[in-house]
Amino acid sequence: MYRQSPRGFATTAIHQKISFDDLTITYDVDSNYSEQGFQLNKKLAELDDGKYALSFPSGLAAASALFSLLKPGDHILVCSNIYGGTDRIIREFLSEIKIENTFLSDLSDSGVVSASLKPNTKLVYFETPSNPLTRITDIEGLVNEVRKISSDIIIATDNTFLSPYFQKPLHLGVDIVLYSLTKYMNGHGDVVMGALVTNSKEYFNRLEKIQFCTGNYPSSIDCDLVFKGIKSLKVRMDRIQKSSLELAEYLENHPKIDKVLHPSLPSHPQHKLALKQSYGFSGVFVFYIKNGTLENSVKLMESVKMVIGAASLGGLETLMQIPVLTSHIMVPYEERVKMEITDNLLRVSVGLEDVEDLIDDFTQALEIIGHPGSDVSSLCCRCWDQVNQALFREHLN
Ligand SMILES: *Cc1c(COP(=O)(O)O)cnc(C)c1O
Repeated sequence: MYRQSPRGFATTAIHQKISFDDLTITYDVDSNYSEQGFQLNKKLAELDDGKYALSFPSGLAAASALFSLLKPGDHILVCSNIYGGTDRIIREFLSEIKIENTFLSDLSDSGVVSASLKPNTKLVYFETPSNPLTRITDIEGLVNEVRKISSDIIIATDNTFLSPYFQKPLHLGVDIVLYSLTKYMNGHGDVVMGALVTNSKEYFNRLEKIQFCTGNYPSSIDCDLVFKGIKSLKVRMDRIQKSSLELAEYLENHPKIDKVLHPSLPSHPQHKLALKQSYGFSGVFVFYIKNGTLENSVKLMESVKMVIGAASLGGLETLMQIPVLTSHIMVPYEERVKMEITDNLLRVSVGLEDVEDLIDDFTQALEIIGHPGSDVSSLCCRCWDQVNQALFREHLN
């Protein structure tokens, strides 16, 4: 069992602590934020027990602002298996302006971390749990390791997968927390937004200046939608946690499923670490079809009736995707296999439907995929949409 999240989360999410008058004065004088943006920032800071928050027009815009704290010649230490868009900023844009990077598969390995920190390392960046394999980084362990070497290195984490309800990285010594508000925080699939939260006055001042200089502000309507979405975050997350664990347990016991990776399952290799540093787990997990081929994975995608084939997460609807056809389509086959991202791997983001209906849907779809390893000739159009989108993105590159 996870520890209970600190009391009062839902109350804080729903009620204002500051009066409207305070708000009007400050937002007028100090920033380019709309009144809605200012209210949202206050709320975001409160929910993470942080002092300061800034919101941005997308999660990637928040990441760009964060990376603008660096200058040419600096070095970033990054955990592999971060969000693809963030990966792309680091590898393609930052390296172009001579900001170096080192990608490590496991930031919980203290020896490797300290050996990879350089005199010019300015940022350590990670996501825990990672995408798609739900690997967990020991946040306090990593912070201690980095702090032994320097107090100036910025430690930042993307907390999108768990939200401040299930994990409070600032409590564990992280300097800056990043969110794609597009996902669980807004929760309704109708907004693209991001945020940064911190306790450091210095980083906040610098980030605020970066935002001001680059005009990287969200729209007031989006801020208002997220502000409303956040009010139901706790009930959504509680419900999603319960359903995703029930579905994961069902799949774990299914004869056609080889393995399920969900941090709340005792079979997850880092289950104990998850219980130690988080208050719960959200709805994104993965499973492997037993002896499954890509055709079996595609057939399963084709056979589910209610579950939607899509690469996003954190909304009201349950979504499923095949990582080798989406997020990892560009990774060479051998490397993918080394990363355990194989053709028989599927990722689910559980939504708010009745879990019995989700289990029924998987039951009938798993019937259809046939015996493990059997050939299925017809490929589904929903999957081909995903492939085509990936190819289209490649074309853009
Ligand atoms: C979606 C996502 C992002 C990017 O967010 P956008 O709001 O789509 O720009 C960053 N990190 C994680 C973990 C995400 O899932």
